[in-house]
Amino acid sequence: MKLPIVKYGNPILRAKGKRIEQVDERIRVLVEDMLETMRAANGVGLAAQQVGAALQLAVVVVSQVEDRPSAMKVNGVKVDPASMMPLVLLNPTIQLDEETIPGNEGCLSFPEINADIDRAVSVEVEAETLEGKTVRIEAAGLLARALQHEIDHLNGILFIDRMSSVAKASLGSRLKRLQKETAGR
Ligand SMILES: [Zn+2]
Repeated sequence: MKLPIVKYGNPILRAKGKRIEQVDERIRVLVEDMLETMRAANGVGLAAQQVGAALQLAVVVVSQVEDRPSAMKVNGVKVDPASMMPLVLLNPTIQLDEETIPGNEGCLSFPEINADIDRAVSVEVEAETLEGKTVRIEAAGLLARALQHEIDHLNGILFIDRMSSVAKASLGSRLKRLQKETAGR
């Protein structure tokens, strides 16, 4: 079932997600609904907070973005990122490479707002899967960026927090308007 996407102004976007201790039917249904919601919105990722659930759960699909490639290793083995999509990540932790690169980013909770954001060039993520396995993902390219963006969401961090003060100032009135329109929804 497609779910409504929570917009900036709703306080749940600032909530840290609760650890998922057990994958039950409720979590499985939520994951299916999040995947459907993300695809319908043409997103590359979606965090549980964005559908109103403060949980350590995010989904990512980057294979459809052909002009922004990704590289990926799973448990140390190089894989074709497309073969691993969609990624469903439970209780993820992330380590960032020191080197950063700017890149354009949007967010489904901030309609029509985009900005260049500095992110680590590559990341290493450890997460649990729906099957209860622990997986180690090394990522570069768009996938690295998407993982940083989504795992930020799980900790209540939004992409506007990562923008340069200049970029944020230039969006100031639009952000205020969005926050006002959507407060409490
Ligand atoms: Zn987002």
